Amino acid sequence: MQSDSQMTDLPGGSLSTVSDRNLYAKLDASFARAGDRPAAIGPDLKTRLTYAELRDGVARYANALTVLGVGPGDRVTVQTEKSLAAVALYLATLKAGAVYQPLNTAYTLTEVEYFVQDAAPALIVCDPSRQADMRRLADREGVRAVTALNDRGGGALADLAARMSHEHDTVVRSDDDLAGLLYTSGTTGRSKGAMLTHRNLASNAETLRDIWAFTTNDVLIHALPIYHVHGLFVALHTILLAGGTLLWLDRFDARAVLDSLPHATVLMGVPTFYTRLLGLRELDAGRCSGMRLFISGSAPLLAETHRQFRERTGHAILERYGMTETGMITSNPYRGERIAGTVGYALPGVEVRIADAEGRELPRGEPGVIEVKGPNVFKGYWRNPQKTAEEIRKDGYFITGDVATMSADGRVTISGRARDLIITGGFNVYPREIEEVIDSLPGVGESAAIGVPHPDFGEAVIAVITPTGEVAAEAELIALMAERLARFKLPKRVFVVGELPRNAMGKVQKAELRRLYADTFAT
Ligand code: AMP
Repeated sequence: MQSDSQMTDLPGGSLSTVSDRNLYAKLDASFARAGDRPAAIGPDLKTRLTYAELRDGVARYANALTVLGVGPGDRVTVQTEKSLAAVALYLATLKAGAVYQPLNTAYTLTEVEYFVQDAAPALIVCDPSRQADMRRLADREGVRAVTALNDRGGGALADLAARMSHEHDTVVRSDDDLAGLLYTSGTTGRSKGAMLTHRNLASNAETLRDIWAFTTNDVLIHALPIYHVHGLFVALHTILLAGGTLLWLDRFDARAVLDSLPHATVLMGVPTFYTRLLGLRELDAGRCSGMRLFISGSAPLLAETHRQFRERTGHAILERYGMTETGMITSNPYRGERIAGTVGYALPGVEVRIADAEGRELPRGEPGVIEVKGPNVFKGYWRNPQKTAEEIRKDGYFITGDVATMSADGRVTISGRARDLIITGGFNVYPREIEEVIDSLPGVGESAAIGVPHPDFGEAVIAVITPTGEVAAEAELIALMAERLARFKLPKRVFVVGELPRNAMGKVQKAELRRLYADTFAT
């Protein structure tokens, strides 16, 4: 019996079933219910895209993909500016049973070349300004087709889609079929492709919609890029699955977000969004009176930012934690205490343990590496079974590389990345602990503690800080830290800079800092 499925003729002639294992089938059911309600509105609040129009557009793009030779399981590499047409293209890729491979718009052609070689896509979609270069790359790499989408959602692909039928049968996919191929930010070594399945994405989407209580009444300010798990999956899936409305901003601009707050209910952002918003005088409780939820993730939110935001707006930011390979892993509670500096509890259905190097669970309160298992955990690294075997244990737990402690009741507090761990004179130093002390000193804005080569200690701790006002001289700063930190943890040098290097998701680039300061103790 096929209670939740129907027969259809797939491109290529094979007769198959459409079932609800394809994530798009779930989204489509929500779109059908939402009908003429707005799926997205522009910052002017006038431009609207209804769910019926979105559904229609997705089907047209899915037919366009078929015309361009994309079949089920094929990769579609996309490096375009953020637009609603790009969202339709993403959803169409799911609908057509293909695999979406988004690329950061900042990647150079040389960088793109690596991703194309690795993913071997059937189609590349790029900005029109890059089309000629991409065509040459595609010819070299044997990619069948290249097409373009511009920053306003127009271009060759949009024109083709407009000529297509708005009828398209969603291609059958099983739980384990790939939906996305997302390359990790990769602070060490080459970026690896994380294979995300329909089940990975669907399970996380449903969980987040439920625990954060998304409904059709929600209006989500979307100011994140859509080439990363945060903006592409966390933000889009939760709101679209709930049948709510996107308040669509093409990029993050603090003032545009501020102006959107009175018309929205939820904001999802990286910590930088919140520090920038706090920089605007007009941010106050009145402007946020219609908001029900502010969510932060992708990088640690400073306890100080959490405190200031609460003071100014009355809202306790909800911090959650996740990564490309796993989607979301933990979240502070929607109802219940949101504690600054912690990332909350394991999501329902997700198992989290703090483990030693062999994967043995450590007693509560002891620092170790976060390991995670559940329907959200990716299938493995693309064409890299060796890396997959190194990072997913035989019992199914994925080794995140993030170091944390877990309280008796299961609340997780992250203290750093395993690879950011500093080992100085044989002692382990967790950078986060140092950074918290430095951040609390007068005149210090943000800080990064890193380990650099040292002739005597192997590695030495140094700190790089940004000032907010007058900061004490280096020796005095170190003396102040000495009141709170063991000697071996004390930075041997403190450098003051205008800004810490960050990637597009707001993560401090510690690898870059290590490179810049590598010669500090060179003899
Ligand atoms: P990405 O795969 O680019 O999403 O990066 C995932 C990494 O971001 C994680 O492994 C963490 O190191 C970091 N991360 C994400 N959310 C948080 C958070 N709330 N607090 C601290 N680190 C986070």
